[in-house]
This record gives sequence, structure tokens and C-alpha cells, in this order.
Amino acid sequence: MAEKKKGPPIWIHAERCTGCLICVLRCSLKFEKAFNPDAARIAVRRLVGADTEYAVSLEDDCDNCGICVRNCLYEALFQEEKVRRRA
Ligand code: SF4
Ligand code: SF4
Repeated sequence: MAEKKKGPPIWIHAERCTGCLICVLRCSLKFEKAFNPDAARIAVRRLVGADTEYAVSLEDDCDNCGICVRNCLYEALFQEEKVRRRA
């Protein structure tokens, strides 16, 4: 079952993703108190022969807490409030 959402939607700019996996590890730390990509609610996959090098996707049970957004150093993840501040 999907989690109750805690924040506005998260937007992904996969073309900026470097594949660092900080978002994945930080999300798993929230839910498991350990670094475990299998427990994360965000997934990053390397692509072959595509326009972007990485695909980034959110699972249905992502609660929009924004932790991954705040920890992405490359601005590949955005949340509505962050976009508003930049306008
Ligand atoms: S979305 Fe950001 S934090 Fe996650 S792997 Fe890509 S660059 Fe790293
Ligand atoms: S918004 Fe929160 S629950 Fe969703 S992927 Fe990011 S850190 Fe995980």
C-alpha cells in the first residue's frame, strides 16, 4: 500500500544524475537505519545507449519526505517548494 505523502511531489532531472547513489543510501538509512539499496524507495539504474546515463525512479511507497532531494548534490531531484524558492 502507498505511504501517506509528507510533502509535495518530487521531480526528477535524470540528465543531471551522476549515479552517486547518495539518495538511495540516505533513503534506506531513513527506513532501515542502515545503508541498503534494496530498502530504498528511490532507484538509480545505469542505462546503456540512452540519452541520459542514469534512470532515476521513485517507488509507490515513497512518502515524499524530501530527504533524497536535500542530499542530492547535483540538483537532479527537486521538490515543489525548492522550485518556488528559486523563482
Ligand atoms: S539523483 Fe542525485 S543523489 Fe541520486 S544518484 Fe543521482 S546525482 Fe546522486
Ligand atoms: S522522498 Fe523520502 S521516501 Fe521518497 S525516495 Fe526520497 S528519501 Fe525516500
